Amino acid sequence: MGPGPSDVPPRVLEALSRPTIGHLDPVFLQILDETQGMLRQVFGTKNALTLPMSATGSAGMETCFVNLVEPDDEVLICRHGVFGGRMAEVARRCRANVTLVDAPWGEALDPDDVAKAAKGRSFKVLAVVHAETSTGVLQDLAPFRTIADSCGALLVVDAVTSLGGVPVELDRMGIDAAYSGTQKCLSCPPGLSPVSFSERARRVLSTRKTPVQSWYLDLNLIGQYFGGERVYHHTAPVNMIFALHEALRAILEEGLEHRYARHRQQAEALWQGLDALGLELPVARGVRLPPLTLVRVPMGVDERAVRARLLREHDLEIGGGLGDFKGKAWRIGLMGASATTRHVELCLAALEEALR
Ligand SMILES: *Cc1c(COP(=O)(O)O)cnc(C)c1O
Repeated sequence: MGPGPSDVPPRVLEALSRPTIGHLDPVFLQILDETQGMLRQVFGTKNALTLPMSATGSAGMETCFVNLVEPDDEVLICRHGVFGGRMAEVARRCRANVTLVDAPWGEALDPDDVAKAAKGRSFKVLAVVHAETSTGVLQDLAPFRTIADSCGALLVVDAVTSLGGVPVELDRMGIDAAYSGTQKCLSCPPGLSPVSFSERARRVLSTRKTPVQSWYLDLNLIGQYFGGERVYHHTAPVNMIFALHEALRAILEEGLEHRYARHRQQAEALWQGLDALGLELPVARGVRLPPLTLVRVPMGVDERAVRARLLREHDLEIGGGLGDFKGKAWRIGLMGASATTRHVELCLAALEEALR
């Protein structure tokens, strides 16, 4: 119950352990096609270029920036936690000129601040984190398409902790590129990063003046394996794709609406229980992220000792604070298969015992 990886259902672990077959085997290629189709459903998109990159969520982040950004491009990054900061670092390494808009730790970005930064300027990319796992804040994305249009930017969204846990609707929100990771609300082991690029993002990609600086993450090349031609680029991580295929099947069997409601219900129960223990939740209710809850460590409590005790006595992992919250907060995840009544009850009882 930390900030990921979440618990992996047995059926997904079983899929992971199936015999390894070739990455050009027709059976595998069908599973790959189905995986892409299911990813489109979960992302809420018809984007043809929707596929799992062969690395963790951070590689999905790099994929978006290295493919869309060229040296000297202007990039506007909205930062309300660690992962917005990581996007800025990745964009700078693409030699972009980065402009930052910040929100205080534990708060959502104010769209007016973003609009002000975009006003009268032109940007190649506007990027924002949907679910900030470092603070437990869910960013409302509704105003961002209009702001991106006002400065001519592609809208890039980090959906690592939101995908499969809260609604992510790329087409409805006008998002041009998004990335996620398998080990958060998709409840699959870490190792793949689903990404999706709109037609507009693909046009930007295909009209670059310079080659993508990363050969491994170049979507022009990878698209030729995932498209009809099946041109060898790198060996697909066959067993991880089996696992993701099964994880997505489980998600769609549950139904996206049910799944989002389950995350919200379990989070409400957790918040109520933490409140009853007298613990403070620094993030305002209206922007609280169901899959990840930030809890303030009470005065005089050794937060590391509590986490060590939870692990030792209760087999339970929760996360420590990051950035401004380092040493001052815990982060409790309710992601995918970990968002159950059993998890919530175990966590509340274990915390109560450890604090006592
Ligand atoms: C976990 C996470 C990442 C990085 O993913 P890795 O799989 O650790 O590389 C990026 N963004 C957010 C919001 C995350 O929660």
